[in-house]
Amino acid sequence: MPIPPGRLTELPGDGSLLAWTVDDGDDSSVVRAYTEFGRDTGTRLTFFLNGSKPAWTENADLLRPLVADGRIQLGNHTWSHADLTSLSAAGVQDELQRNHDFVLSTYGVDMRPYYRPPYGYRDASTDAAAAEIGYTCPVLWYGSLSDSGLLTPDQVVGFADQWFLPQHIVIGHLNFTPVTTVFPQLTQIIADRGLTTVTLDDVFVRPTG
Ligand SMILES: [Zn+2]
Repeated sequence: MPIPPGRLTELPGDGSLLAWTVDDGDDSSVVRAYTEFGRDTGTRLTFFLNGSKPAWTENADLLRPLVADGRIQLGNHTWSHADLTSLSAAGVQDELQRNHDFVLSTYGVDMRPYYRPPYGYRDASTDAAAAEIGYTCPVLWYGSLSDSGLLTPDQVVGFADQWFLPQHIVIGHLNFTPVTTVFPQLTQIIADRGLTTVTLDDVFVRPTG
């Protein structure tokens, strides 16, 4: 289906799909663990990355083949995790373009039109500035693993139980290790509910030109 206009917070329709998305990359070992999890289980994931973080260079060889075959999709989360609403239009474009160029050269993929504004902070001005360079689809979320800070593993499972639901876009983070200790519990929730994990490209057709 085409990408609906405006921001994306959930997947349209009445399916049984789950878009499991994870952001940042503060901890390189968490990026590695999530990537291996995707590789070993077939769970389809979307990573919204900040190329300024060393994890994205350190794990590039491991991640590149999964990106190439579409099992893990990369989305733009700005170069340095900037609050876009604090920047000029040129500043917004610099943040997105620098990250874009890094991913194109390191992974060989074009992330447009998908980007996630850090903290979810955006407004009409940032949307317009991003759209001028092809980033027309801000991707937000409908449910969070709430692990941008340090949680216990049980808390992560609790948030997955709350938010892994049909057609949800769920946000998690590549920053702290507890989530990497409960992948079996999280995949069990997905299986018990009959959900199918998808990337954005599994669901939407990107605009051409
Ligand atoms: Zn973030």
